[in-house]
Amino acid sequence: MKHDHAATTSNTGTTVPCPVCRMDIDPGAAPAAVEHEGETYSFCNLRCRDRFQARPESFLARGRGPRLRPVTLG
Ligand SMILES: [Zn+2]
Repeated sequence: MKHDHAATTSNTGTTVPCPVCRMDIDPGAAPAAVEHEGETYSFCNLRCRDRFQARPESFLARGRGPRLRPVTLG
């Protein structure tokens, strides 16, 4: 019987920033993820995912450096 839960915990030290709020998250434990232009982005929560999906370009801003302008939705 396998009992190796130490290897499957979310605390592997591999984190990525949430594209929307830049909070460090574990992609394996992220509550939301979106595939965009062939890349998979993980989000800290569903709200960040919704913001990203509304205007992905404002969070990615390729080649223009980081932009952290919050997007106000309706
Ligand atoms: Zn977030």
